[in-house]
Amino acid sequence: MAQDDLKNIADEIPWQSPVQPVELRPDSEFQFNCHKGVSCFNACCRNIDITLMPYDIVRLKRRAGLTSSQWVSRYTLPFPMDGHAMPGLKMATKPGTNECVFLEESGCSVYADRPSACRYYALGSMGVRRAGGAQVEDIYFVVREEHCKGHDEPRTLTVAQYRKEQGLEKYDQMNFEWRDIVLKKRSSGPTVGKPSERSLQLFDLCSYDMDNFREFIAGDGFAEVFDLSPDELAELLADEDKLLLFAGRFLKQVLFGEMTIAVKPEARSARLRKRRQREQEAGQGGD
Ligand code: SF4
Ligand code: SF4
Repeated sequence: MAQDDLKNIADEIPWQSPVQPVELRPDSEFQFNCHKGVSCFNACCRNIDITLMPYDIVRLKRRAGLTSSQWVSRYTLPFPMDGHAMPGLKMATKPGTNECVFLEESGCSVYADRPSACRYYALGSMGVRRAGGAQVEDIYFVVREEHCKGHDEPRTLTVAQYRKEQGLEKYDQMNFEWRDIVLKKRSSGPTVGKPSERSLQLFDLCSYDMDNFREFIAGDGFAEVFDLSPDELAELLADEDKLLLFAGRFLKQVLFGEMTIAVKPEARSARLRKRRQREQEAGQGGD
């Protein structure tokens, strides 16, 4: 990344922010370790502000044996991710505290399925698009907060080693399309205008509600428009990870016109016919 770009990012970081204004690449080394023996054990889970990503929810709702909407209503708080109310979800806290709902005396009760943000800490990551570039590039920063003593631990490792250790390769792969969509929405700025209520609902469905998205693609309305083979559809219905990746592609197609899912040629006329039929039925019902 050009030094000017880096300076621009560094300028965005508030004064006295815990984010260290030094860009790290996958092979950059940093000093950090976190284990049960550190004096600050669990301190980071007592004051959380965690934005959840789609794969976090899939993993955590699966672990809990709940549907996506059940898990979301029990364990998250909605918030607007931008000025157009793009729906976001934060991890819930215990009543009257900033403590994570999943923190127990012995530590994290969902450790094997903890969210991406918990895995990254004390690193921060950011997707950036170079000027004129089509690809999103991940850059990393150390987040150094006073309470976290892990930075004093005598262990040096690379960002790539840390990501592997924390199981982040899979999480980043699963959340990639979604992060790209959020970045595109943010960088498109106010000129694009406020998205319709329908697009915000679709964003919510494709991001946080795989159980209802599964039903949606199994339904007649989807089959009328999109040209999936029976085998492709069966694979998506049976494999939730593949379904989540497909949901990202679907959202990009609907929001940005990035056509990666075949549309039936007759879809437009069939939809028009159906709409007319509904209008006629509604008219007859009113007589
Ligand atoms: S999910 Fe686990 S690691 Fe993450 S904040 Fe909660 S208790 Fe801590
Ligand atoms: S070392 Fe840092 S990340 Fe680990 S428990 Fe302490 S505050 Fe949390």
